Amino acid sequence: MDALTPSSLTTRRSISLQHVDLSLGRGASRVHILKDLTLSIAAGESVGLVGPSGSGKSTLLMVMAGLERPDSGAVMVAGEDITRFDEDGLARFRGRHVGIVFQSFHLIPTMTALENVAVPLELAGDGEAFDKAAAELEAVGLGSRLNHYPAQMSGGEQQRTALARALSVRPEILFADEPTGNLDEGIGRHIIDLMFAKQAERGTTLVLVTHDRGLAERCDRVVRLRSGTIVEDVRPAERVG
Ligand code: ADP
Ligand code: MG
Repeated sequence: MDALTPSSLTTRRSISLQHVDLSLGRGASRVHILKDLTLSIAAGESVGLVGPSGSGKSTLLMVMAGLERPDSGAVMVAGEDITRFDEDGLARFRGRHVGIVFQSFHLIPTMTALENVAVPLELAGDGEAFDKAAAELEAVGLGSRLNHYPAQMSGGEQQRTALARALSVRPEILFADEPTGNLDEGIGRHIIDLMFAKQAERGTTLVLVTHDRGLAERCDRVVRLRSGTIVEDVRPAERVG
């Protein structure tokens, strides 16, 4: 076993959740979704989040991304205690630190690919938003689709646009919620390859929700949820030696 080195002692935490509880819904339909959940993710680590449908994967992602506030517990992300922020503070936090890719792409239909990718950069006050957006689209192989609207692109092209948008602000953390769920297998694999390549190149922390076991096992770590609780936390590469 390696001796402890200064760098291993100072491994930077990217995400730290302590005893997080969250219920959603009102009255009789109120559901206790996340239950006393504690989880730490190091900077640059990739984590596959798996578990049955309804186990709380998307909700956990929303909490980590600052889109949903827990009822109790601590949530530190990119060095900030995000439970302290109001809505505006959370929006600024997301703009600075976080990129998110959803299953259903969430592109703005009235905007071209270039405009969709430029939006978060413009919101961050970047004077070179359009140049950077074009470069980001070229990096995902969409240099020839800059002026296409979402409806004029294939599902794979739309998801590559969404990935370019998520990466355009150079986020410390990329969250992806079943990003290939609406895509054919081969096209999905291409998106995932791109995502891992960008993650490695930029040292981005990646949290990937997926149903696909093989896909999850490409991550440094696989965390399994059941009924809002972590029931397994393993490192696939170490398991096979
Ligand atoms: P997963 O992504 O693992 O499929 P979710 O995080 O989407 O699970 O949902 C976990 C559970 O919480 C499910 O039972 C779901 O129906 C419930 N749920 C999610 N959002 C809400 C909400 N806004 N109100 C009430 N229940 C919700
Ligand atoms: Mg989900």
